[in-house]
Amino acid sequence: MQHFPIFVNLRGQRVTLSGGGEAALAKLRLLLKTEGDIHVFAAEPHADLETLADEGRLTLHRRAARAGDFTGSRLAYGANEDHAEDTRIKALAEAEGALVNIVDDLHNSQFITPAIVDRDPVTVAIGTEGAAPVLARAIKRDLEERLPSSLGLLTRIGKAFRTAADALPMGKKRRDFWADYYFNEGPKALAKGENNAREALDALLTRHLSEAPEPGEVAFVGAGPGDPEMLTLAARRALDEAEVIIHDGLVSPEILELARREALMIDVAKHGFGKSTPQEAINALIVGHALKGEKVVRLKAGDPGVYGRLDEELDALAPHGIATRILPGITAASAAAASIGQSLTKRGRNSDLRFLTGHDTKGFTEQDWHALAAPGAVAAIYMAKKGARFLQGRLMMHGASPATDVTVVENASRPDTRILHATLAALPETVEGLSGPAVLLYGLAPRDAATELKLKAAQ
Ligand code: SAH
Repeated sequence: MQHFPIFVNLRGQRVTLSGGGEAALAKLRLLLKTEGDIHVFAAEPHADLETLADEGRLTLHRRAARAGDFTGSRLAYGANEDHAEDTRIKALAEAEGALVNIVDDLHNSQFITPAIVDRDPVTVAIGTEGAAPVLARAIKRDLEERLPSSLGLLTRIGKAFRTAADALPMGKKRRDFWADYYFNEGPKALAKGENNAREALDALLTRHLSEAPEPGEVAFVGAGPGDPEMLTLAARRALDEAEVIIHDGLVSPEILELARREALMIDVAKHGFGKSTPQEAINALIVGHALKGEKVVRLKAGDPGVYGRLDEELDALAPHGIATRILPGITAASAAAASIGQSLTKRGRNSDLRFLTGHDTKGFTEQDWHALAAPGAVAAIYMAKKGARFLQGRLMMHGASPATDVTVVENASRPDTRILHATLAALPETVEGLSGPAVLLYGLAPRDAATELKLKAAQ
């Protein structure tokens, strides 16, 4: 980040702008939103500038800026649309200690003005370090649509009530009150008029003051295979609202980024066969936070109900009467199959589909090898890296063809996805050297490879 975003207090501060044309007017449209003391220097000012000066919104000096004009200025703008003149302004302003911006000249500017979504006092500043103004505009448009124009008023009314709301204990109780106001009661009341919103705050405060503390709750949330786009809307909302997020190592950093900044993040990474947080400790952690009345999200890669030890955690919560809910996610097998262009079931090929694990806490797992060895069988094998040789041995012993397709998908849905297509005969060598999470699609080849084979056979 080359430019650090900050909000500068301009109340009563001198802001000096040099220029009298369209570029100057464009900057002034933003600057006039502030409470700054705005001075414009222009030898030939645009008629609109004269009007603004007549209205008392700025001080217009009908001459070019000169030494001394920038003294005491917090910000200075060069908006002459004339390189030589703007260069002169830059030198003057800098010498007099003002931060300088030359319009449309990133290189000569000490600061840049972001695109702004104005719901005063809620202000969103969007910057791209000058790299992509088109993108900034698109984001601005998107936010303009999303943030109702009444948000500013709602916030101003809320702001005036802050001292009264301090009657609520700090922390969760107070946060709940404000969430109730901003996302629920406030907008409803405001729709019926400004006074209504003020009165609603009084009623809301009385209610929150008399309410017993809310019990905690735990949401078991599927984070999907890694790509944040593959989160469900429900998962996204749960992350937004969580006070505590207890997550596995496989949950991608991009997804953790989406959590509320104030949320407590706890990583309980488990590594197969290696060092890990014992399940009992994880259970105790979840129970402990929920009993404190907190909103806990237990975030698991993929779907929480697929090799996620969900039942053990649910069982641990049950005796405490803590409310739980499960938000399913896209499991690795679905993402892996999608990445090779195949479906997991197919008419005439396999009408059933198995999810297997290469190993569990006790070691390699036994399966219905006979069924799996049959032609056309398809299985998604999780945690298959360590058990590859064991799987291969068992399957071939039960009659599976060594030529059976297997496709290993590592880091499915992530930017570093790797697809390794092999046969059962070459499985152990294929999984060697994998470092990321990988799911093995037994009985499936990437669609392109499958088509190629068919074409070859037909020739
Ligand atoms: N609940 C998860 C599975 C957890 S077990 C789910 O539904 O996907 C952990 C195993 O999941 C890993 O060893 C790997 O086999 C698989 N896995 C998880 N994320 C993956 C990804 N992005 N790509 C490939 N495999 C993944």
